Amino acid sequence: MRCHCHLADEAATLAFGAQLARGLMPGTCAPAGGPQGMTFYLEGDLGAGKTTLVRGVLRALGYDGRVKSPTYTLAETYSLPAFELYHFDLYRMHDPREWLDAGFRDVSGGHAVSLIEWPEKAAGWLPPPDVIIRLTIADDAREIECEATSPCGAHYLETCCTLC
Ligand code: ADP
Ligand code: MG
Repeated sequence: MRCHCHLADEAATLAFGAQLARGLMPGTCAPAGGPQGMTFYLEGDLGAGKTTLVRGVLRALGYDGRVKSPTYTLAETYSLPAFELYHFDLYRMHDPREWLDAGFRDVSGGHAVSLIEWPEKAAGWLPPPDVIIRLTIADDAREIECEATSPCGAHYLETCCTLC
């Protein structure tokens, strides 16, 4: 399962994030109900819109505070009513072992939702992705591609891709 969307402006990226958030409601991947952990890899150059997308997700989940890339702290935790959401930005990670040393392995995966910018910096150490999202800069706009890499991710994208 794979889909591709043109995002004409920042508002479109935020709207796509909101669509991703709707799919995260409990039950999407856990038919018995209850929150289901999911892992998203967010790939793309600096300025491609990865953090903007996360902001769209969080806004739609009711989080009103500031959302910025945790470039120096590597991770930001958002305790939402239904689940914990972790936003990682591994751009400044020099050694993949930092992922283990920081204890991120224990919080990611499981029942949490993890959105990971620059996953290639810790390749081989991260939980496997359910969905890989690739953002590319196209002049003044952006292109987004979502690829499911697990049965849960495929089920999830069936609804999320309807925006494209
Ligand atoms: P990243 O986290 O990938 O480095 P950011 O989300 O921090 O990127 O920044 C992306 C920049 O691109 C922001 O200035 C944002 O306003 C802009 N932007 C986001 N989506 C779009 C879009 N679809 N079209 C044009 N500009 C966008
Ligand atoms: Mg970012």
